[in-house]
Amino acid sequence: MPSIKDIMQTMEYGPAPESNSEVKAWLAARSAGIGHYINGNFLPAEGKLIDVVNPATEEVIGRIVKGMAEDVDAAVRAARAAFPKWSALPGHERAKYLYAIARHIQKRERFFSVLETMDNGKTIRETRDIDIPLVARHFYHHAGWAELVADEFPNHAPVGVCGQIIPWNFPLLMLAWKIAPAIAAGNTVVIKPADLTPMTACAFAELLTEVGLPAGVVNIVNGDGETGAAIAGHPDVDKVAFTGSTEVGRIIRRQIAGSGKKLSLELGGKSPFIVLADADLDAAVEGVVDAIWFNQGEVCCAGSRILVQEGVAPRFFEKLTARMRTLRVGDPLDKTMDMGAVVSLKQLERIKGLLKTGESEGATLNLAPVDLPKRGAFCAPGFFIGTAPAHAVSQVEIFGPVATTLTFRTLDEAVVLANDTRYGLAASVWSENVNRAIELAARVKAGVVWINSTNMFDAAAPFGGYRESGYGREGGRSGMAEYLSLREEKEGRPRPAPSLVPQVAPFSGKAERPDIDVTAKLYIGGKQVRPDGGQSYTVYGKSGHAIGQAGLGNRKDIRNAVEAANKATGWGGVTAHNRAQVLYFLAENLSQRRAEFATTLAATGASPKPEDEVETAIRRTFWYAAQADKFDGGVTATKSRHVTLTVNEPYGTIGIVAPDEAPLLSLLSLVLPAIAMGNRVVAIASQSHPLVATRLYQVFETSDIPAGVINLITGERDMLAKTLAEHDDVAALWYCGSEEGSKMVEMASAGNLKSVWADNGRLRDWRDPRYGQGTEYLRRACQVKTIWLPYGE
Ligand code: NDP
Repeated sequence: MPSIKDIMQTMEYGPAPESNSEVKAWLAARSAGIGHYINGNFLPAEGKLIDVVNPATEEVIGRIVKGMAEDVDAAVRAARAAFPKWSALPGHERAKYLYAIARHIQKRERFFSVLETMDNGKTIRETRDIDIPLVARHFYHHAGWAELVADEFPNHAPVGVCGQIIPWNFPLLMLAWKIAPAIAAGNTVVIKPADLTPMTACAFAELLTEVGLPAGVVNIVNGDGETGAAIAGHPDVDKVAFTGSTEVGRIIRRQIAGSGKKLSLELGGKSPFIVLADADLDAAVEGVVDAIWFNQGEVCCAGSRILVQEGVAPRFFEKLTARMRTLRVGDPLDKTMDMGAVVSLKQLERIKGLLKTGESEGATLNLAPVDLPKRGAFCAPGFFIGTAPAHAVSQVEIFGPVATTLTFRTLDEAVVLANDTRYGLAASVWSENVNRAIELAARVKAGVVWINSTNMFDAAAPFGGYRESGYGREGGRSGMAEYLSLREEKEGRPRPAPSLVPQVAPFSGKAERPDIDVTAKLYIGGKQVRPDGGQSYTVYGKSGHAIGQAGLGNRKDIRNAVEAANKATGWGGVTAHNRAQVLYFLAENLSQRRAEFATTLAATGASPKPEDEVETAIRRTFWYAAQADKFDGGVTATKSRHVTLTVNEPYGTIGIVAPDEAPLLSLLSLVLPAIAMGNRVVAIASQSHPLVATRLYQVFETSDIPAGVINLITGERDMLAKTLAEHDDVAALWYCGSEEGSKMVEMASAGNLKSVWADNGRLRDWRDPRYGQGTEYLRRACQVKTIWLPYGE
């Protein structure tokens, strides 16, 4: 034992272990195994048992039962039975339960912190100061939403039974992120913790009994990926919420395609950590500690790609190496440790494998000179020098405490490197120049951007990804919206199949021709173009007579249209006022041709009141013109001395598939909100009544809509929709067609994990503004970017 004098000389830390005796006693009392928590009770621990291991000691600390299909079924039945009463409770009554959960978590903070540390391997410093306080904060915040949901989300209903699957990196925090908004909105839940880290969920279930939450509102089924798949695939689950790897996210997307289930995915990331030459380098070095060495780097939004401006790079890496030398890795229950164990020996092997890959690709691994404990899944922190953007370690999640590094010269180069990933979860930007920092924040494609900070979380701040990092947000208003549905979405009647199958052979039946034959083309890149295949199809009117031909678009036309749309990036950059002006002008030009459009609509026979449909379309154009500069983000109250901005950003190119009913109004009801928010669209017009859409070209041309912002294709709906769904440069897709078509587009969209809004073949009343227009359309047209900006010295 060193003397005090020695210690004063070396300034070495002494051991400061947190006691775990209460948690050990709790675990010992449950050593025979813990069963599922269904309908307010723990079932006996019977069946296949899975050992739960403390990764820091390699000791088995408990056993859980692997949930089988029948366990999932029992849990879903309990959740379904509890749903009517729970969802009908006044929000205030639900709020009281959430408030009680928050209070009880606070009273058990120390217990949960120790249990989480023993289960996961993360340090007590983090579970005590970050994980568990955020769990309590989440339930408090959502107690508020339970109170307010009816006022704040009129015409919305809870979705129903939610199946939730969570990972092992923040076990109790992810559980809170999932359960709190779901039950606040009036849903009931079946949740599966990761089999590596199920213990705090079991203790949480006991806490639910303690607060008297009605039986069946929350059900916890333990198990592995198979159990998770049984939850996602259960026919009586209405919504699936998943956090985990992109690979499993994709599997779930395909598994539930066409089921009508709502889906939110919070997936992987390879987030850039950008240091500009004018950054406070010491602060940025501390930022790296929190970005990649926090939670052993097992963080989906870890700053795992460090990008440093060339002029300061040598100095920065020198400082980083010096700081890394001071990191302490070891017993996670020791309060002086910076890093604990990674979650399992298997994960450690995976990390080591990737580190070897990095070295074999030519990068140099700079690891901290730490003495790792002999037992346990411990990994030294570090970073690569000399990684190239194409290296595997620059592209895949290491999910361990090692970052890659790159340098850049200009801001533009930083943006290109930052966005050189299929992910888009988070980014961290370091600069003392707020103009530059905000410019970068705006240009980086990521759902969360931290300026001069990193890994900040709050229940009020939406969190979630762009691109292959998934879709949907957790936290705040956006997070609540994920657990609510428009009432009409649930109630619409099935849509009939298109009345017209495109025929390209000449039609010898009766025709009603205008004086001069009108050639309906496609509209791509601001020009009327002939379809690539050179084919047209005959369109019939209400009397069954041919009323004209429409272009028969093919895959190539869709690809051309997407290319044109992707070139029209300027539209997202013009001011909201400019976009509003263009939409007003569109309404003006449409109004000048109202008689012509009414006649065209009348000829189709698809509109019971053609004049009304045109009038509603004009009014709707005004409404979205009005919204273009009003559907704003906001400033969210999160932590003190922070401005947290939520910005509604356009997706980029949205694919739109319009239905047959109300062929003018439905098309415009979909296109207008998308372009009002700064997106470009590739829209497929009604298959059976395409001619009214082709008349719109001239209106677009005279309304100052820049080339490529609206592209319209006519032809066979589902063939064209499939190409749109598969296209990697289409960021989101709205589909109004059949039930099978909805399944097809959801399946085909899994490739780049685009956000899909499919109506499952349900008719919508487009004339009724409650269903045919509204903020739900605008919300679907944007992805929320949350920007954290600290202030003060
Ligand atoms: P997974 O995506 O496999 O696990 C996440 C959750 O999904 C767990 O509860 C898991 O169960 C469950 N699951 C697994 N397969 C299925 C399935 N087919 N259907 C439904 N649920 C399923 O992540 P891993 O734990 O395997 O980690 C692998 C890698 O994924 C990590 O190294 C990391 O790169 C990344 N990852 C990313 C996370 C993030 O937050 N973005 C979180 C965790 C991992 P169980 O674990 O019990 O088998």
